[in-house]
Amino acid sequence: MPEYLDQDIKFLPGVGPKRAELLKKELNINTFRDLLYYFPYKYIDRTKFHSIAEVRSNQAYIQVKGKIRSIELQGERHKQRLTAVFADETGVMDLVWFQGIKYIRENLLPGKTYVVFGKPSVFNGRVNIIHPEVEDKTSEQIKTGVLQAFYNTTEKLKKRFLNTQALNKIQYSLAQQIRGKIYETLPPKVTEPFKLMGLKDALRQIHFPESTQQLQKATFRLKFEELFFIQLKILSLKHSRYEAFKGFVFSNVGYNFNQFYNNNLPFELTGAQKKVIKEIRKDLGSGKQMNRLLQGDVGSGKTLVALMVSLISFDNGFQASLMAPTEILAIQHFNTIRKMLTGLGVKTALLTGSTKKSERKIIHEQLESGDLQLLIGTHALIEDVVSFDKLGLVIIDEQHRFGVAQRAKLWKKNAGTPPHILVMTATPIPRTLAMTLYGDLEVSVIDELPPGRKPIDTRHYFENRRKQVYQFIRSQIDAGRQAYIVYPLISESEKMDYKNLEDGYELMQEVFPRYKISMVHGRMKPAEKDAEMQLFKEGKTQIMVATTVIEVGVDVPNASIMVIESAERFGLSQLHQLRGRVGRGAEQSYCLLMSSYKISNESRKRLETMVRTNDGFEIAEVDLKLRGPGDIEGTQQSGLGVDLNIANLGKDGEILRIARNVASDILDDDPKLEKEENKILRYQFQKMKNTEFNWSVIS
Ligand code: ADP
Ligand code: MG
Repeated sequence: MPEYLDQDIKFLPGVGPKRAELLKKELNINTFRDLLYYFPYKYIDRTKFHSIAEVRSNQAYIQVKGKIRSIELQGERHKQRLTAVFADETGVMDLVWFQGIKYIRENLLPGKTYVVFGKPSVFNGRVNIIHPEVEDKTSEQIKTGVLQAFYNTTEKLKKRFLNTQALNKIQYSLAQQIRGKIYETLPPKVTEPFKLMGLKDALRQIHFPESTQQLQKATFRLKFEELFFIQLKILSLKHSRYEAFKGFVFSNVGYNFNQFYNNNLPFELTGAQKKVIKEIRKDLGSGKQMNRLLQGDVGSGKTLVALMVSLISFDNGFQASLMAPTEILAIQHFNTIRKMLTGLGVKTALLTGSTKKSERKIIHEQLESGDLQLLIGTHALIEDVVSFDKLGLVIIDEQHRFGVAQRAKLWKKNAGTPPHILVMTATPIPRTLAMTLYGDLEVSVIDELPPGRKPIDTRHYFENRRKQVYQFIRSQIDAGRQAYIVYPLISESEKMDYKNLEDGYELMQEVFPRYKISMVHGRMKPAEKDAEMQLFKEGKTQIMVATTVIEVGVDVPNASIMVIESAERFGLSQLHQLRGRVGRGAEQSYCLLMSSYKISNESRKRLETMVRTNDGFEIAEVDLKLRGPGDIEGTQQSGLGVDLNIANLGKDGEILRIARNVASDILDDDPKLEKEENKILRYQFQKMKNTEFNWSVIS
């Protein structure tokens, strides 16, 4: 049944069809509800009055009470402006309009007292406000409360007079209409312990705050609610999956695992690797389906963990599959793992988008017969018509590009029992984001790098140091090392980027005539890419010029220099990923960030952060604060609505933790929300289910 708030926005008094069209197009405000949840981005205190004498140019918004002395129309036709001289006891200023002149002229009366509000500037030594908000103190006015809300609008809207003040009026109209029609969405047992403001009041105060305190309470309530329902959804997913899915029991640790451990393991496992393998083994033996996230910084040795866990799967008569986000990585995993498995007799195959039809067919057959134990490939694996004999384990590498929805697809690969799932991410995710993106997973962390690693020495250089940088690269290569030089994707056009890279390649050939240079980019055929990578890996080329295709997971221990060109154009997590390509061997490694002089403050912060720390978690936190979660890779595909309206994962970690705990307690007590006291929650929850990602594959 459609609710009152779902009405088309055009029916709201003061809106009408034309404005409704604009609101829909520009702000995606389609219904009463959309408008109600279109929250202000800032507030200005309207209790303070300024005197004209103390106004400085470029001050924030000011409010002045005074009288109009004179009004004058100036300038040529088409370029007219209306200037009013406005005075209080301390001085005079100009109020200027370029638009809506006729209306202002007819309504503004000299001698009358007005309250004027706007952003001051100085022109010809005189303070003025362009397009101020003018309130007639005698006429009936909107009770905006003490703090005035400001709404984001667009240029188009402003041109049609739908500026922040107009939105304010429309919000006021809505507030009048919906009186008595807002119902509480949280039960008392949630609102009372935290003294949460009621929804009705919160929605009123967020638009028309009566005081700073009330505004704070309203904000807290709305943030809490937003985070709470997301957590309720994630945790209930976890609950229902746990209830619904039995897991294969991997009780044996046998020949494959032991043989590998005793004979093939090229080095001692780190303490952290041992710890997470233990955690995973426990899951695998529990009789429940494992859904675990393995977080570990670049170079922490996740591949080895993946392999050893797969061995347990084979020991119990099950197949396993390992998925990588790119073909290069899949190939690399395939080669590394095959080498490590030497002598064990584990049958392994590689399946990617460029696997030949005939080969593909054989692989399919061997998978179905159970002949093939380990399948390594790209994401294409899940889209493919691949079916397994007994798929017991799926490992997804570098998973931050992989959403909940895609994960859910995997569970359908087996008709009955779903395989165990291990998700590995090399991008450390801030805790708050992890709780949201991967909130349905158990988490293991590899918080230790293999011994002997020297922290990467990272430096930032401007163009004027380019010669020294080249000299440094030369000295390193002469000492036997190899170097990456990475170019950003500058334009949207693939052609242009390619040009950019090719120029770089040619330049490097000029600068380093004595060295052999490889090049890898996204437009190359996988076989070509692989061949170039292989040359570099074998040390036959000394320099690898590449785009970010090199970003994830590529492993060449002898490469000790990572030069990132136009580093200011890269995001933090990308920079960190790129840097992770070096520092994999015993030698001291370097990351050289090249940038132009003109960089934004945000870019500067990113580069400073890179120079300051190697800690991926710290970098992830900074990234979240700088960018906000909306832009962080993977959030769009999450299907979890991390597209938050009011809460901010960078700032509201504490509220999130509380909300998650409350949601968790409720579900522990009443997993299906069947109790009478949880009735409103069930209702809200149902509504969310209908509007967002379809979870039916799971429950
Ligand atoms: P990532 O976690 O980034 O996927 P990898 O699995 O690629 O890391 O491992 C990085 C490098 O560290 C590889 O060359 C690997 O062989 C090596 N490595 C992994 N575990 C250990 C260990 N316990 N001791 C020494 N080197 C290790
Ligand atoms: Mg890896």
